[in-house]
Amino acid sequence: LEDKFYNLHFAPYMNARGESEGVVVVMQDVTTQQKLDQMRKEFVANVSHELRTPLTTVKSYTETLIDGAIDDREIAMQFLSVMEKEADRMTTLVQDLLELSRIDNKQMQLDMRPLDLKEIVKETIEAQKIHIEKKGHRIIYEADEEMIYNMIGDSARIRQILHNILSNAIKYSIDPGTIHVKLYKNPNIITLQVKDTGIGIAKPDLERIFERFFRVDKARSRSQGGTGLGLSIVKEMVELHHGKISITSKPGKGTTVTVQFNVS
Ligand code: ADP
Repeated sequence: LEDKFYNLHFAPYMNARGESEGVVVVMQDVTTQQKLDQMRKEFVANVSHELRTPLTTVKSYTETLIDGAIDDREIAMQFLSVMEKEADRMTTLVQDLLELSRIDNKQMQLDMRPLDLKEIVKETIEAQKIHIEKKGHRIIYEADEEMIYNMIGDSARIRQILHNILSNAIKYSIDPGTIHVKLYKNPNIITLQVKDTGIGIAKPDLERIFERFFRVDKARSRSQGGTGLGLSIVKEMVELHHGKISITSKPGKGTTVTVQFNVS
């Protein structure tokens, strides 16, 4: 009873002669409603906070520029590049929010076509190569080149799934490490695995990893341009494709993300 919320309704209990014999109490379990309300409130508070933070930065840098910093070209350029980064972060946040809202309202239009997952994986790795190399990471890609990893899916969404998982592996590997991308298939299931040697995730955090806005280390995520929505979008996208996602991790050792699609 402790974890639950109830609305209580009282009514007098009358016997056949119309005399009051006691009270009838109706307990209405409103736990689900309460939890949903709570989640909605937290979500709105999170969105407001996440938008206000970059806005505050942009505003204070603008003021400093107006107050004279604009005359120092070097400082002005520094400020402007921070402002650009913050504006980019806000754009990403709004895009992610719109995406989630479309999913929630079941308005997500999926363009389902046959595709070869192997090609998408290769292209996504290629697109991120510059970030991988900049941080000194090594990437190993492993798949049976002869095999066709065909599935029916929305290629833009599948790309997004891969992009988010791979960019997390890059972001959360502080020292140069190895990112291992593996694709394999048994007759009915294609498995995609992204394994990193990064900072890892402790068990209590791992349980909350798909929650919207959940981040193990807010400052670190923010400094990397993260919104805390990436993995929740990934999970929704995987499920829209009737797939499964799981994450295992060891703090200080690394993280493995596994996505499976049924292709029977
Ligand atoms: P973010 O935008 O913060 O990266 P995500 O939803 O993609 O948001 O991830 C949520 C949090 O999970 C991250 O802030 C980070 O703390 C943790 N995380 C995700 N992927 C990894 C990883 N490969 N290694 C370590 N931590 C990770």
